[in-house]
Amino acid sequence: MFDSLSDRLTGVFDRLRGRGALNEQDVREAMREVRIALLEADVALPVARKFIDSVTEKAVGQQVLKSVTPGQQVVKIVNDELIEMLGGDDAAPLDLDAKPPVVIMMVGLQGSGKTTSTAKLARLIREKHGKKALMASLDVNRPAAQEQLKVLGEQVDVATLPIIAGQQPVDIASRAMESAKLQSADVLLLDTAGRLHVDDALMAEMKAVHGIASPHEVLLVVDSLTGQDAVNVAQSFNEEIPLTGVILTRMDGDARGGAALSMRAVTGKPIKFAGTGEKLDAIEPFHPSRVANRILGMGDVVSLVEKAAQVVEQEEADRMAERMMKGQFDLNDLRTQLRQMQNMGGLGMLAGMLPGMKKAKAAMQQSGMDDKVLVRMDAIIGSMTQKERANPALLNAKRKRRVAAGSGTQVQDINRLLKMHQEMGKAMKQIKKMGGLKGLGALFG
Ligand code: GDP
Repeated sequence: MFDSLSDRLTGVFDRLRGRGALNEQDVREAMREVRIALLEADVALPVARKFIDSVTEKAVGQQVLKSVTPGQQVVKIVNDELIEMLGGDDAAPLDLDAKPPVVIMMVGLQGSGKTTSTAKLARLIREKHGKKALMASLDVNRPAAQEQLKVLGEQVDVATLPIIAGQQPVDIASRAMESAKLQSADVLLLDTAGRLHVDDALMAEMKAVHGIASPHEVLLVVDSLTGQDAVNVAQSFNEEIPLTGVILTRMDGDARGGAALSMRAVTGKPIKFAGTGEKLDAIEPFHPSRVANRILGMGDVVSLVEKAAQVVEQEEADRMAERMMKGQFDLNDLRTQLRQMQNMGGLGMLAGMLPGMKKAKAAMQQSGMDDKVLVRMDAIIGSMTQKERANPALLNAKRKRRVAAGSGTQVQDINRLLKMHQEMGKAMKQIKKMGGLKGLGALFG
């Protein structure tokens, strides 16, 4: 996610931070580069322009330029502005607190990932909210659409409305409402028909269904890989029916991020969820502050810790988060992390979530390393004494040779591991300087 944008921006900011003093010209120069990076990421031009103007205005103030850490301050301003651009501090939650059945209407173009997202949401509603859901497909255009939802429903263990051949969308919607009431379902998800393009027939159908079902949420599903087109599609839909939010799919493959960055500013609608893969659990609430952290290369420690908590004991995850924030993250902690990484799907998923991990990963890839490296790093730490793990500075050349022999690796592997540990430490300090991670405190009491 956001890899290329993030690489560009971290480059600019590393240079800014590297300088003791900054003048207005330096800031304007850096902002020119940021502007280019945003446009290359396919951010809408007016959005990029407004962003740069706003950051520049705040950053060239005397308070910032005369401060002890001007570079750091500028990055903080960019971070805050990014969060604003992405929709504010917190994730926009699903509103499920109306009188049941709460109707969620899913709309979008064909192939955007609408049906998959409907099933993903249904699963989330069952598992995370503990509510009973019913799904119904109103897609009578694509022959296999209704069948597809039924199959997905079986996979996520959520009921689907029985299919009656030949029934029209509005009638299916009425039957679904009846059925949801009879079954005492808390939530009804309506998967509407897609089209290749926004057209009048589609909009007429959407409006008719909207009229019958009075949905509490109207979620537009769009493919993030289509960049500005995704934003244009959102605008077209929003002109016809009142959207309550957006689900951006295929974020797993979106290195640029233009759709995510422009959506809120252009349409005024919050991104509520991000689809991050084909699997039915690959959906995440969209947290602007976490996404901004990721984009600025500061990792997404909160999401990481949450993910870890699904795999390891909650206590362990709490302890780790605390130590990270205090800057006491030693090699024992790194080892625990490495083991979790293996459980959580390896390096690919983790890069970008852990501070400094992206650089470490790039370095590893350059030297031809892959996920096996996790196992090897685990072995390296296993060959160290407890004292060495708690205080890596003890590892002189002689000790490194011993550890290398013990773990069947080379001294350069040990050095690489220590470098990665250092990078992570540095990145965490940076986060701390910027006032810590919003939400982490609340998350761990
Ligand atoms: P629909 O026509 O809008 O209902 O689209 P589908 O739900 O049938 O999805 C089309 C394809 O996109 C399927 O192969 C899905 O597995 C895939 N897909 C959906 N969401 C995501 C996502 O977030 N990431 C990835 N990588 N693939 C996705």
